[in-house]
Amino acid sequence: MIDLLDHRDGPRDECGVFGIFAPGHDVARLAYFGLYALQHRGQESAGIATAERGGNIMALRELGLVSQVFDEQKLRTLLGDMALGHVRYSTTGSSGWENSQPVWRSDHRELALAHNGNLTNAVELHAELRERDVAFRSTSDSEIIAALLSTHPAATIEDAIVDVVPRLQGAFSTVVMTRDKVVAFRDPAGLRPLALGILDDRYVVASESCAFDIMGARFLRDVQPGEVVTLDEHGIGSRMAVEGSRQAFCVFEYIYFARPDSRMNGQVLQVARGRMGEILWRESPVDADLVIAVPDSGNAAARGVARASGLPQDDGFVKNRYVARTFIQPGQALRKHGLRMKFNPLPEIVAGQRLVVVDDSIVRGNTTRQIVQMLRDAGAAEIHLRITAPPIKHPCYYGIDMSTREEMIAHDRTVEEIAAELGCDSLHYLSLDGVYEAVRGERATHCDACFSGSYPLAGSEGANGKFAFEDALPLVRA
Ligand code: SF4
Repeated sequence: MIDLLDHRDGPRDECGVFGIFAPGHDVARLAYFGLYALQHRGQESAGIATAERGGNIMALRELGLVSQVFDEQKLRTLLGDMALGHVRYSTTGSSGWENSQPVWRSDHRELALAHNGNLTNAVELHAELRERDVAFRSTSDSEIIAALLSTHPAATIEDAIVDVVPRLQGAFSTVVMTRDKVVAFRDPAGLRPLALGILDDRYVVASESCAFDIMGARFLRDVQPGEVVTLDEHGIGSRMAVEGSRQAFCVFEYIYFARPDSRMNGQVLQVARGRMGEILWRESPVDADLVIAVPDSGNAAARGVARASGLPQDDGFVKNRYVARTFIQPGQALRKHGLRMKFNPLPEIVAGQRLVVVDDSIVRGNTTRQIVQMLRDAGAAEIHLRITAPPIKHPCYYGIDMSTREEMIAHDRTVEEIAAELGCDSLHYLSLDGVYEAVRGERATHCDACFSGSYPLAGSEGANGKFAFEDALPLVRA
């Protein structure tokens, strides 16, 4: 099985989570639309769990896109007053069905759980739970959180969460549903996003605010790092599990992962990305004729470059918007043209032009090298690459699947050497200061470890890899 269209060799999105408590609404359908808006955060599996107050939890999850997993008939069977949803790209555990979410457990208390992030002490916690004879059905770190909460003797789920959160290390934006409420909580560093919204007089949580817009809900605020937010028949409740920790919101969410129409920490990302383009030009002007984006990830920043430079901007590529994963073997002759299924350059636009080509990031460089070659083949006179992230040199342990350090093109190379590798005429990466200026944030409250190597949480380096359980432990199935 090959993933023909996985040509983007950038960092891989992690997961998207969603939760709603809204008696009288079609909660499964609302979860469906919420997940539909969050599809960019994970394309391997999708799942929805629903429950009526006091009733059992029903969950449906499958490998595939949201629109492939759910149809009208399935949504109609998912009845309830509240719902939980998840889209997944695997960061811990392989991408089999058993690792799709929501996770369901019924030990001391029945619950369903959706998690975005990565625990850096998953192997230790897993071993500890196994010693207590807790059985697992999956190899994902999310089930560890579910098991800790489901087996916890506390009277309320909130008390269980407040007790468990200090024992979890790493990133976790999490939504849990019990038989009577939905509870969202975020790790004390706030590494991954989690937003709170309101729909009429009911509340909703989601990884990104774009999930609210699609259903007519209104963004209220970000769930705070270390906060536990309850959505139930009383409306909304909040308490802090941990206070005063070093905050470390992932700076890459602004640059690439999140949808441009989402807002995070007061910033609408489309606007912040436009500023990245403006600063990029200020840092590295060049004699050129035309600005083009690598669609869609470079679109907003390319507009910023065009604004700041006064150069015209056009579409140098047409992107096939219907690209999804396909497992059809392309055959050797087609394989080398694979990227063209996604991007096709327009010779009429780029031929003879000195181009400023804008993209968000480069990890291994394979795609970028091909893009440069396609533009050369289409007749571009010069190619000046401008990237809205600093060079990526270090792996992420907080829920983003990057390549290994050795595979990263910026590992042990200067910018000039990378430009030579990619075959472009010049290359400039936005500085870290430029990123923080664009997002109007400070290093002290963010994570930029994949650029700087400075990990905000102690003990992160060498933490469990994606296949930690498969590697370190026998696969345990209940
Ligand atoms: S290491 Fe990079 S991708 Fe990972 S959380 Fe930090 S900034 Fe985000």
